[in-house]
Amino acid sequence: MFDSLSERLSGIFDKLTRRGALSEADVNEAMREVRRALIEADVALDVVRSFTDKVRSRAVGAEVIRSVTPGQMVVKIVHDQLVEMLGSEAETIDLNAPAPVPIMMVGLQGSGKTTTTAKIARRLKERDKRKVLIASLDVRRPAAQEQLRVLGEQNGIDSLPIVAGQSPTDIATRALQAARLGGYDVVILDTAGRTHIDEPLMVEMADIKAIAKPHEILLVADSLTGQDAVNLARSFDERVGITGIVLTRTDGDGRGGAALSMRAVTGKPIKLLGTGEKSDALEDFHPGRIANRILG
Ligand code: GDP
Repeated sequence: MFDSLSERLSGIFDKLTRRGALSEADVNEAMREVRRALIEADVALDVVRSFTDKVRSRAVGAEVIRSVTPGQMVVKIVHDQLVEMLGSEAETIDLNAPAPVPIMMVGLQGSGKTTTTAKIARRLKERDKRKVLIASLDVRRPAAQEQLRVLGEQNGIDSLPIVAGQSPTDIATRALQAARLGGYDVVILDTAGRTHIDEPLMVEMADIKAIAKPHEILLVADSLTGQDAVNLARSFDERVGITGIVLTRTDGDGRGGAALSMRAVTGKPIKLLGTGEKSDALEDFHPGRIANRILG
């Protein structure tokens, strides 16, 4: 991710750091180029504007221009501003609630929801030593429940037995009950998606939320859809309320616009990145490390 942006920025900053002294005009010129690079990376326009404004106002301060290494100071300011834009602190899944902690997965069809449900379950089991139950509430797509069951089996995760003819809220009730009775620490509910947001989907999500009272509601969004993913997160948050985002297919995303804009536009943290099809292809989202990666 961020390969093209990273390359562009390093070109811009090389020019800057090679100079001994910087003028305000140099900084302005560099910021114009940074702005173009961010727009090409598909970062939301408002986010680009506020980012470059903040960097410019800090960089043209007398101290930076007069400092011994003004170019490096500008790079440092860009780094700090990137970290701030990405949310500053790494946020992870919050399990700080009475067991079984319900986690609800939401998102559009094909975004990687089911795969991500299995990935998270596996990570909670292996890394955090939690006993995890997974349940598919997707009664729309015929093979969805079976898909999750198979993924569970492949990863040694228990899944709720499939009962034909139940509604999503019935399954949610049964999953919570099974999790309580079975002494599970976490129960992950994988909900149905649609090709786009519509009223029935939002009503279904609200109904499940009312019953499951999830501690986390994680939106799974496809990184490759760029600003659509950001708009999707905003819509889901307005209608259902989300606690975090998992961005999938970041392994195929050379631009990274969704990752860069998500926090600033929605106010919600990216908690995890999907980095491949395999069940262990899941990474934490560390703003500091991402900024380092972007600035090379
Ligand atoms: P759902 O409809 O939202 O449940 O989507 P699925 O979990 O069935 O995923 C759809 C496709 O995306 C599958 O082929 C997954 O293997 C693939 N997929 C999911 N996450 C990732 C990811 O992070 N990277 C890549 N390359 N593929 C992914």
